[in-house]
Amino acid sequence: MYGLSPADLELQARARGFADELIPHEVLAESNGGRLPEPLAKAHHERVLELGLWATNMPTSVGGGGCTTLQQVLVQEQAGRVTNALGWCMHTPPAWWPAVANDLQRERWLLPTVRGDLQECYAITEEHAGSDVSAIRATARRDGDSFVLDGEKWHVTSFNEAGYAFFQAVLADGPHQGSQALFVVDLPSPGVRVVRTPSYSHTIAHEHPVVAFEGVRVPADHLVGGEADGMTFVYEWFRFERLMVAARCLGAAERLIQAATAFATERIVQGRPLIAQQLVAAMLADSATELFAARSMTYETARSIDEGMDTKLLHGRCSMVKLYASEMASRVADRAVQIFGGRGYMRDNVAERFYRELRVERIWEGASELQRLIVADQLGKRGLSALV
Ligand SMILES: Cc1cc2nc3c(=O)[nH]c(=O)nc-3n(C[C@H](O)[C@H](O)[C@H](O)COP(=O)(O)OP(=O)(O)OC[C@H]3O[C@@H](n4cnc5c(N)ncnc54)[C@H](O)[C@@H]3O)c2cc1C
Repeated sequence: MYGLSPADLELQARARGFADELIPHEVLAESNGGRLPEPLAKAHHERVLELGLWATNMPTSVGGGGCTTLQQVLVQEQAGRVTNALGWCMHTPPAWWPAVANDLQRERWLLPTVRGDLQECYAITEEHAGSDVSAIRATARRDGDSFVLDGEKWHVTSFNEAGYAFFQAVLADGPHQGSQALFVVDLPSPGVRVVRTPSYSHTIAHEHPVVAFEGVRVPADHLVGGEADGMTFVYEWFRFERLMVAARCLGAAERLIQAATAFATERIVQGRPLIAQQLVAAMLADSATELFAARSMTYETARSIDEGMDTKLLHGRCSMVKLYASEMASRVADRAVQIFGGRGYMRDNVAERFYRELRVERIWEGASELQRLIVADQLGKRGLSALV
């Protein structure tokens, strides 16, 4: 099905097997603020490396998995079947980095990250700049051979796990004054301070603190790419990560439909299994149908990337896929909670956890409204046949 090659199927089975190893630990994580005991979390990390499920998106030239985009989707789909972000240990560092990393960046951060010895985080969003990245106020001021970075960043995911941060700032002076640039900042570094660590709807070990960068001095070779390249990386990251959000939503929806179907088959109400009640059957049928649609469009888009489709067209396609898959998964989670009834409202039920966890998929990496605006813009510029 879906025209997967033997290599695709083997990788998919490997990732699925690992996801099945993680699933039994979800309730422990949920009851423990998202955290697993340290030795267990470490064992999962080592298992990911052993199975070749870390950095699947990185080229083999830097020690990565060298997977096709479709294969990366297949892995992330399995990661998405697991709640409490336990599947995030199948980590993908930024795919655009190997092409632009200078020698320092390659040796100090990129290669250790691909080996699994380090992890990054992204400090881009600010209090007044979320959907509109161009509104960023953080600054980078040139001072001799250094840049001095200032700004307060919000929702810095995995800050507590990271060895370094990508920090996006507006250049305060120089020939590219006003353009955005991206810098690598070691963690910890003098001048980097957690302002607060808010609680979020999901229960995961990765925190999303508000982080202040105050007079943080970095050598000029911490600049990633050219001085005006910041937004290029953001767009490249969005295209990749929107597809991966969609992939994880497919995995979540599959797990939810399987769990809800099993429950509806066993649960007897008024003398009949729930699945024989037509209102419940319709919820399951709609969910399966929407999963099939979302999976087909996600795999097709991944194949288009592998076949070298024009980047501008891909931008619209990735938005459509992220929009549809994230909204589909939320609908499926909502129906699953309903089918489980009171049990679906209990935190040890997979539907309850996904119901909370999937909500953010419609917000981060560009909220649904922004995806709709992108799709409509592409439709106006390129016409329907270019998109669908
Ligand atoms: C759990 C979590 C983790 C995150 N991790 C990171 C991270 O690691 N690094 C990072 O840099 N950021 C991160 N983010 C930030 C995330 O990318 C932003 O929250 C997201 O881009 C939306 O920005 P905002 O929250 O500022 O909402 P806003 O931009 O203020 O938008 C608020 C609402 O208005 C809507 N809206 C905005 N503009 C328009 C428009 N033109 N037309 C119609 N509607 C519009 C939006 O869709 C949204 O519904 C994270 C967020 C969360 C919740």
